Amino acid sequence: MSDIRQPGGKSRILGIIGYPVEHSLSPLMHNAALSEARLDYWYLPFAVHPDRLGEAIAGVRALGITGFSVTIPHKVAVIPFLDQLDETAEAAGAVNTVVNRDGRLIGYNTDGDGLVRSLADELGFNCANPGTIIIAGAGGAARGAVAAFCRSGASRIAIINRSREKAEAIAEICGSRYPGTAILVAGHGRELGPCLKEATLLVNSTSLGMQGEPLPFLNLEELPRSMAVYDMVYAPPVTPLLREAAARGLKVANGLGMLVAQGEIAYRIWTGFPPPAGAMRKAISETFAP
Ligand code: NAP
Repeated sequence: MSDIRQPGGKSRILGIIGYPVEHSLSPLMHNAALSEARLDYWYLPFAVHPDRLGEAIAGVRALGITGFSVTIPHKVAVIPFLDQLDETAEAAGAVNTVVNRDGRLIGYNTDGDGLVRSLADELGFNCANPGTIIIAGAGGAARGAVAAFCRSGASRIAIINRSREKAEAIAEICGSRYPGTAILVAGHGRELGPCLKEATLLVNSTSLGMQGEPLPFLNLEELPRSMAVYDMVYAPPVTPLLREAAARGLKVANGLGMLVAQGEIAYRIWTGFPPPAGAMRKAISETFAP
């Protein structure tokens, strides 16, 4: 067999739709894994203007594209164009992965489960513990994360967000869907009180940290020393939150593992196989190498 991989008549096409999409690391990550597995799939970036989303999805159907990732700004807007939503997408209220099964487009959300997997792999953290998981932020990433924590058996989750009503909306949706998990809500004040003492994990799902900003509304000194800290932000790789937590001796990880794990789950949905171990991580780590 030739070492040069080339598309042919039976090749299958995968891709990512976003706007912009040039910055996405997904093509690099997926093509590295597909190439190592010698699967005849090709993953391409598609910059789709929001006004042309419907046409793009019609194109997916017409061209028989096997599946695609969905990124900003289409994660919610794509939903009406799909035929079915998996539980993960229903609960997250957003889609980041679509598979074309015999002409039916099915939406998934692999971000939350990717986070849960990354927490287990990198921090040895099991969500099914009796303590409190604190999540800062209540945007799209937080909703997927809260839903995944609930599915993974979390006892209690506290959502802290600048706009308290967004945290309340997530608590209401996930609370009625997953009644086995208690969900508390707080603004940037001090309402969380005693439950901070029972925290086993703090996750930053705000965009704070991307420009080097700290999380001004949480004082790590009030949190247990046994707690782990996870930042969904991965660029920069060490945010002020992670720096401070590591200096206090807490276990820390950034969002690179989540990025990789959500991609690994999507790859399996499309191809039916897990990607070669470590292939996506290796491809992406090289991008962040100093
Ligand atoms: P989003 O929907 O825009 O939500 C942003 C969140 O950040 C909101 O809760 C917002 O609070 C909060 N926020 C923004 N600026 C703030 C400020 N100055 N002070 C306090 N809170 C502030 O974004 P998202 O899609 O959820 O993404 C959030 C972060 O997760 C981003 O950094 C993104 O890159 C990261 N992410 C990482 C992965 C991964 O694979 N590692 C996957 C998804 C997302 P308000 O509600 O009050 O506006």
